[in-house]
Amino acid sequence: MRIIILTLISLLGGSQAYAFDINPFKKYDGSHELVLNDENTQKAAGVVASIIIHPVHEELTVRSFNLVKERRMPGFERINDELIETVIRGVRWNDDPLNLLPDHPIAWFDNFKNASENSDRITSHYDLFYRSHHHDLQFLHAMASSDQEKAGDTLKAVMMWSEFSYKVASGFIPIHTHLDKMHQFLSPEAARSFKKHFTHDGLRKKWTPAYLFSLKCIREKVGSNLFTPLDCSETDWRPMKKNVQNIALGSLLHVIQDSFSDSHVSRNPEYEGEYSLIHGRSKINNFNAYTKQSFNLHRGADGYPRDFEAAMSEQDLNLEEACAQVISNVLLDRNKSKKGTHWRKTANYLENGVFRIINPNALAGAGKYE
Ligand SMILES: [Zn+2]
Repeated sequence: MRIIILTLISLLGGSQAYAFDINPFKKYDGSHELVLNDENTQKAAGVVASIIIHPVHEELTVRSFNLVKERRMPGFERINDELIETVIRGVRWNDDPLNLLPDHPIAWFDNFKNASENSDRITSHYDLFYRSHHHDLQFLHAMASSDQEKAGDTLKAVMMWSEFSYKVASGFIPIHTHLDKMHQFLSPEAARSFKKHFTHDGLRKKWTPAYLFSLKCIREKVGSNLFTPLDCSETDWRPMKKNVQNIALGSLLHVIQDSFSDSHVSRNPEYEGEYSLIHGRSKINNFNAYTKQSFNLHRGADGYPRDFEAAMSEQDLNLEEACAQVISNVLLDRNKSKKGTHWRKTANYLENGVFRIINPNALAGAGKYE
C-alpha cells in the first residue's frame, strides 16, 4: 500500500493547495472516534484515496467540539452527534466541494490529477473543485493563489470567506439567498471580494448557499484527457437548513485548521523541520503559494502535527482553541434573539488574532517547501 501511495503522490505535480489530510471514508459514530466501516474500507482500498487517508481535519474538529463542551463555552448545550457529523462534512467540503467522495474516489483522483496537469488553463469559469486546489480559491486552504500575491490580499480573501461562511453558519444569511444578493449581508469589502470570486461575468448569480454547500456531482474520465460533462443532478435542492449551516461552519474551521499547516502558512515562532505545529503559535509571516513548492515536501506538513498529542500552550494560539471560539460564537448566534451579533467580535478575533499578519506587503512564499 505504501508503494501505491507514493506512486500516486508522485503522479501529482503542479500548483495545488492541499491541506491537512482528510479521510472521507471514516464516519463519525458519536463515540468520539472515527471508525472505518466495512463498505467504506473496500472503497478506500480502491485506488485513490490512499493519498488522503489520515483524518487530521476530522480529528481536530472533534477535539475542538470537545473543548467547547469541557469548558462549557457559550452554546455548548447545542452540540450533539448529528451536529458534529454535519460539521465534519463541511470540514471536508473545501477539499471536495463537488462531493465526489466517498462515492467516487477514482473520479476524485482523476479530476485532481487533471487539474494539477492543467492548472495554467483554469479560469473562474471552471468548477469549484478545480479552482479550490489549483486556482483562485486557494484561500479555502489559507493559501495565496499565486506567488505574486501579497499577504494583505490573501488575508482579505480569507476574511471574505470567513465572513460569508460564518454568516451562513450562524443563520444571518438565509440559506436560499441568491449569490448576487450577498452584498446585502456582507461588509462592502467582503461583498467585493465575494463578487470577484463567485458571481463575476454573470456566473452563479442564482446559486444559493444551500446549493453551494449541497453540490453532489460526478465527472468521470473516459479517455486520456477526456471527461464526461460535469453532472450535478444529484444535488439536493431542498437540504435541511441546519445541515447547510453546519457545512458552512465546517468550511470555516477548515481554513483555520489549514492556517496552522506549516506548508500553507509560515507562522512565528519559526523552527527547523518540515512538519506542522498547532500549539503556541503566533503571528503570520507569509501565506505560502503552491506554485513555489515541492508537492512531496508540502505533504510532509499535512499529516499529523508534530505536537498533536502535546498539551496546549498557555500563551499564544492553539488550533483547537481557535476553532472552539468560532464554534461557540456561531452556536450562540443561532439563538434568534442575538442573531448575527458576534460576527464583528469574531472578525476581530480572526483578523487580529488567528490570521494576524506581520507585513501586508509580504509576497507569498514557499516556506521550507521549495
Ligand atoms: Zn485545505
